[in-house]
Amino acid sequence: MIKSNYFQDNPDLQLNYNSLIDWKEIVEAYEQGFGDAKKYKETGAENLAMAPSSTEEAKDYYTSVLDSLGELMGTLVAQKSQEMDHEGLKYSDGKVTFPKAQEECYTALRDAGLMPMAISRKYHGLGLPVVVQALACDIAARADAAFCLAFGNINIVEIMERYASPEMCEKWLPAIADGNYSAAMALTEPNYGSDLPSVQTKAVLGEDGTYRLTGTKRFITHACGYIDAPSVILTLARTGSPTSGARGLSFFLVKGEDVHVANIEHKMGLHCSPTCEVVFEDAPGELIGKTGYGLVKYSMGMMNAARLTIAAQSLGIANGAYFEAKKYASERIQFGKPIEQIPAVRKMLDKMEREIVASRALVIEAARSIDLYHWRKEHLLKEEGKSEKDVNKDETLRFWEKMADLLTPLSKYYASEGCIDVADDAIQIHGGAGYTEEYDVARIYRDSRITTIYEGTTQLQTVAAIGGVVAGMSPTGVLRNYIDQQMNGLDASQDLVSLRESLEECVQNYRSISSGAKKDELAFEVVETAARFLCGLLLEKSMQRLTGDDLDKRSALTEQYHLDSLAMVAGNKMKLQRAAAAFAKATA
Ligand SMILES: Cc1cc2nc3c(=O)[nH]c(=O)nc-3n(C[C@H](O)[C@H](O)[C@H](O)COP(=O)(O)OP(=O)(O)OC[C@H]3O[C@@H](n4cnc5c(N)ncnc54)[C@H](O)[C@@H]3O)c2cc1C
Repeated sequence: MIKSNYFQDNPDLQLNYNSLIDWKEIVEAYEQGFGDAKKYKETGAENLAMAPSSTEEAKDYYTSVLDSLGELMGTLVAQKSQEMDHEGLKYSDGKVTFPKAQEECYTALRDAGLMPMAISRKYHGLGLPVVVQALACDIAARADAAFCLAFGNINIVEIMERYASPEMCEKWLPAIADGNYSAAMALTEPNYGSDLPSVQTKAVLGEDGTYRLTGTKRFITHACGYIDAPSVILTLARTGSPTSGARGLSFFLVKGEDVHVANIEHKMGLHCSPTCEVVFEDAPGELIGKTGYGLVKYSMGMMNAARLTIAAQSLGIANGAYFEAKKYASERIQFGKPIEQIPAVRKMLDKMEREIVASRALVIEAARSIDLYHWRKEHLLKEEGKSEKDVNKDETLRFWEKMADLLTPLSKYYASEGCIDVADDAIQIHGGAGYTEEYDVARIYRDSRITTIYEGTTQLQTVAAIGGVVAGMSPTGVLRNYIDQQMNGLDASQDLVSLRESLEECVQNYRSISSGAKKDELAFEVVETAARFLCGLLLEKSMQRLTGDDLDKRSALTEQYHLDSLAMVAGNKMKLQRAAAAFAKATA
């Protein structure tokens, strides 16, 4: 892998960081009146020492975090990734052994204090907005997608800040943030993956007031703990009857020492990330929040954050593939010249680059939409003691919450599908060498394949996004409102206008189809059309903030991106037109 600082050496990430992200808006949304800095002045509490008291201070702080992470990932983790992948994990009698190189990387990451990205300062976390968390994951996954799950996973406990009691948060979160525990999320069971409302692990309340969990979970990342950090497992289990559906599910914290890890999977990729089969036999569990909200509120909340993490992870994997392929293409000589000068190879490199740039724009916008509602909502509920009902009267918050609910699955599907394509092109550019394990692209390609599956498959992201697209494009819909806001004052290109018209037409035809099955079949075409249009819109919008070479380069890239989109969307339009016409004829 290229040895450098993965924050500093990435031109598009730097462009976003320095010129495109509106830091004032993000910092103000996160800091909510810079309350932590004020508390630090009053109390001198050590965990608030890094709390910024202005946008400039906050940005300096983010820069130092991302810079340290970029250095560690690019100069240490990336250099060990092949060794970790080839050595892999060993399982024996319920215990998992990690490669020595992984211990070294993990210790360095933990000692640098870079792990608790999503945990607030109050509970010893770094206190970072979601936009910064996404950039961090992008940087880390470029170095090693499997290793990046080490901190990806501990941050799932962020959900406890929202729903667990203050006592439970105080008991667990600082210990987890300090690296004394690792974390796992146990939703999937052997018979229920996408179909989470049906999971059957049971939780029974005993006379001593303790819940006991019994059942088997499958594919649970890091349930065995991580190196020397034992796990806490956030577990979805049924407190209602076996047929009580989603409403019968609750959420528990179970200690890793109270379950049995029966096996780890032998996987195609992510070789140094343990994926465990976990047996619960009367395992004690601490209830998080209230019973009945485990899936509908808590797991969904956790999954939304996890989905964005996987979107950012996908982006990082694609980046790794692109930079390695670019380097190889500049060094490999065929027909007396570097292959990067051969048009067919150049074409692949250019396409990889524009897909990554578009993906990053969408992932950052999804992260921004979360920042623009989540922290304010938490502040109103927790600091100002407002009721959910009162908070929901705030129209701006509701607008961004709805946008986040749409942009999260959209960015997860888009970035993960794109990442597989980019990794595939990276192999192609390496020719036969790409098919060997000598080069990193083979590992990257294997690792990329999981991204469209875990945290909900692409088909499930489509299910999650289609309502937001179709209802959102109604005359008073949130998505239409968002698009109008973004296009206001934008000197939109004819291509972008055509893409918008195509989206309108696709949505209209989709609405007119009366068969539920046909709608399910064609939902992806509508969602893909929306994603391509939105990426194009974000790219054009970004040009308003650029000048000189940056503007010229982005303008040329956007033109090509639109052309790809127009070609794809033409196919989608045709399929929806045909289906709508067939239904109109059948019902005439
Ligand atoms: C490496 C790895 C790590 C993982 N880590 C975790 C973890 O930490 N915690 C955890 O709880 N789980 C984890 N998982 C599980 C993962 O989230 C599931 O594998 C995933 O959600 C899909 O479930 P499934 O495998 O049962 O597939 P299935 O649900 O059986 O799906 C099979 C196919 O059917 C399609 N399908 C199913 N239902 C629908 C529908 N309604 N509409 C359209 N298409 C549908 C799917 O898209 C897919 O193509 C992990 C899995 C892997 C491989």
